[in-house]
Amino acid sequence: MSKTPVLLPDPGLLEPFNSSLKDAGFVLLGPDEEPLSPAPIPCGGLDSRCLQGPSCPHEWSVRRAPIRVSNGLAGHLVEQRPPGSQAPDLFEALRGLLADGAQTRLDLESTVAELVEKYELLSVLYDSAATIVSISSLEEVSQRILDEAARTLGVDHASLMLVEEAGKTLRVAAARGPHSHSVGKGRLALGEGIAGHVAQQGKPLLIEELSTHPLARKATPEEDRSGSLISVPLKVQDRILGVLNVNKVQGDPFRTGDLKLLCALADLASLSIENARTYQNAITDRLTRLYNYGYFKEQLEASLDAARQTGSPLSVLMFDIDHFKNFNDKNGHELGNVVLVGVAGICLANCRQGTDRVPDLVARYGGEEFILMLSGVCRDDAFLMAERIRRLVQDESFEGGQNQPGGRVTVSMGIASYPDDAATSDALINRADEALYRAKRSGRNNVQLA
Ligand code: GH3
Ligand code: MG
Ligand code: MG
Repeated sequence: MSKTPVLLPDPGLLEPFNSSLKDAGFVLLGPDEEPLSPAPIPCGGLDSRCLQGPSCPHEWSVRRAPIRVSNGLAGHLVEQRPPGSQAPDLFEALRGLLADGAQTRLDLESTVAELVEKYELLSVLYDSAATIVSISSLEEVSQRILDEAARTLGVDHASLMLVEEAGKTLRVAAARGPHSHSVGKGRLALGEGIAGHVAQQGKPLLIEELSTHPLARKATPEEDRSGSLISVPLKVQDRILGVLNVNKVQGDPFRTGDLKLLCALADLASLSIENARTYQNAITDRLTRLYNYGYFKEQLEASLDAARQTGSPLSVLMFDIDHFKNFNDKNGHELGNVVLVGVAGICLANCRQGTDRVPDLVARYGGEEFILMLSGVCRDDAFLMAERIRRLVQDESFEGGQNQPGGRVTVSMGIASYPDDAATSDALINRADEALYRAKRSGRNNVQLA
């Protein structure tokens, strides 16, 4: 938001007093107008107030003086008195009154401008709050915050960086403009460049011209180097979550009003990011970063409801790593964890997975057991998919795999499908579990249908 500042001298301040003063023989001039010469004017009987007619030898006296307000000049008061005038001298009294009147108008205007600015800020925040707060995924929240910041400040170049878990680096979570390709890839150490500096200090920064700013010399490829920039920390209490940057390449530089606005937006954004992180953690398994079973169960219920309405199939696939106790015993728990993460990765890479409401959902059921929901997939197609994952795991060269009974890490799988095998989520999971048990009984490293 850019606000037009009240410019002084403001010729409009004395405007309302003009007509009544003119009738009394006073003249008001604007602050820019060259005041009439204070030299006396020969009368010559030109004015109706002169009683002597065209041959009058006297002179009119002329006075002028400035009318000042707190931060400049409102105009000038000019008085022309006819020769021999007996009227009381009101000049200084009038000048004082006009100065007071102009000052009152000025104060009123700036109060109104302040109110308008606050109103604009609040309405922008209200709009942003409505769009940002309603989202729960961190990626989506980051993107919306960025869009709101860019929209509100009217810029095309902006980026949002989040502090990574180790707390030592910032990663680009969302970006617009020349650095949009660096989303997910761009990294910046805390303290490095402008955003790194802001993240470390926890204080916002407004830079009018980047090219001459000392910090810009250390700008990383993920940052901008020209135009005006505002970089504000995203924080909850004193904990830094990230940095929001907006860059204005053309036009006037950012003003403090823009900085205030972005800071307010950043406060709101920080809460949304914190919320999204908390939610994400609540539904995610810490080791594999897959969804946890609680979330899986919720989504399965919802997808089954949808499947009942549309009449489309849905399959549940459960699997368990073979002889995993042996793996841990021979290779250690740490290497066992590496296998769990690797198997999770193979599943994800072979699923239609990405954001919420996608057809496939992969979760850690517990221990070394995993569970998949495949919406719209019938038993035969689920079998093909399970076979593919089983073979990919078997073909992966996991360190320590050579110590397993078959010389490789393998998995056993069970599948149950709606509507063929069961109608409820509990029954589907039970049937898939039974099929998995059968796979174990029939020699492991195979897939069984319910
Ligand atoms: P089966 O082929 O019958 O499935 O044999 P198994 O040895 O895999 O089965 P069991 O249930 O006896 O052992 C599961 C093992 O998985 C035991 C447990 O230590 C291990 N495990 C469970 N969670 C984790 C984990 O988070 N990390 C590691 N490294 N091991 C885990
Ligand atoms: Mg098990
Ligand atoms: Mg097992």
